[in-house]
Amino acid sequence: MHTDFRKDITIRQLCEGFVYNEFDEKGLFGLNGKLVIQPEYQRNYIYGDGKRDVAVIDSLLKGYPLGLIYFNKNGDMYEVLDGQQRITSIGRFVTNKFAVNVNDYPRNFDALDKNVQEDLLNTTLTIYICEGTEKEIKEWFKTINIVGVPLNEQELLNAVYSGPFVNLCREEFSNSQNSNIQTWENYIPGTYKRQDYLKTALDWVSNGNIETYMGTHRNDDNINEIKKYFTSVIDWIDRTFKTVDSSMCGLEWGRLYEEYKRVPYDVNKLDEIINELLADWRINDKKGIYEYVLSGEALEKKPLLNIRLFDKSVIKSVYTKQTKEAQEKGCSNCPMCSAAEGSNKNRIYKENEMDADHATAWSKGGATDISNCVMLCKTHNRSKGNR
Ligand SMILES: [Zn+2]
Repeated sequence: MHTDFRKDITIRQLCEGFVYNEFDEKGLFGLNGKLVIQPEYQRNYIYGDGKRDVAVIDSLLKGYPLGLIYFNKNGDMYEVLDGQQRITSIGRFVTNKFAVNVNDYPRNFDALDKNVQEDLLNTTLTIYICEGTEKEIKEWFKTINIVGVPLNEQELLNAVYSGPFVNLCREEFSNSQNSNIQTWENYIPGTYKRQDYLKTALDWVSNGNIETYMGTHRNDDNINEIKKYFTSVIDWIDRTFKTVDSSMCGLEWGRLYEEYKRVPYDVNKLDEIINELLADWRINDKKGIYEYVLSGEALEKKPLLNIRLFDKSVIKSVYTKQTKEAQEKGCSNCPMCSAAEGSNKNRIYKENEMDADHATAWSKGGATDISNCVMLCKTHNRSKGNR
């Protein structure tokens, strides 16, 4: 691989013929048409948040270094390997797309003093230009130390497996214009900009083997399989659950779909149960509700709900009752101490030296109420383990 270190390219040259596509949220071209700012495998522009884009311009105005930028040379064309977010921010500023504060007033590029404008345009960038085979470039791209926001795993995979399949996938799953996103974001955390929907779609269709799947399908000219599978999962969630709650976001929907897609449900009944459970303050883990009800409220799924510890009033009354009975019998108020031979056989513990325990284990269906509460000394409670 051949590399070239350049310190002579100015912002003026870089921004010549700069095109920003609002529709795709992409900075497209620069260097008078010679530079592709966002090759297909690159991520979407994420600096346009009024902070990171402003910080880029602030740095430039203060004369701070902007960090290394990497171009890949391909014939007489260049494409940005790293630096796309910074270049897009600069291009958008120079074309008056946003303002920065100068002496406490927001100013876009045209409102800057002429000499400040000139200084900015004459600023040179530090650019590494490399030329090599696709494989070399990709390997390098995977290992370069990336300034700013590092590529996440899916963004790297998109780069490594770039091709028609990734392009079509991004058009479907990483596209701000896709109105289905409004539904997806109910169930999948993250954003289209950081490839979170694409990652989830790949995860579901490949049963967790994303990289293998991308490798196998790399040169496909269609995304029928992944799109169909993804839509099936989303439709199943939509049909099965009438109430959309924030606790549904981020569940292992791909797995749940595979496990329960063949089970018929009375969706009205299901909705009723779910809403009851969502309103139950004792349930610590609202996210566990969905698998619990899908399983037909199976006992072995109950721990998913992570029911809260016993109520304070329950603890108080069980402690009082147990202690009174123990004092009458002259034994320990911890039934396990009392049953054992040892120095604590007759010990009366204070309330804060004891913990509430499920007489019938929670995992065996024991309720978290007064009928199933027994107070044990802390040592014995711990020795019974996490039930
Ligand atoms: Zn004990």
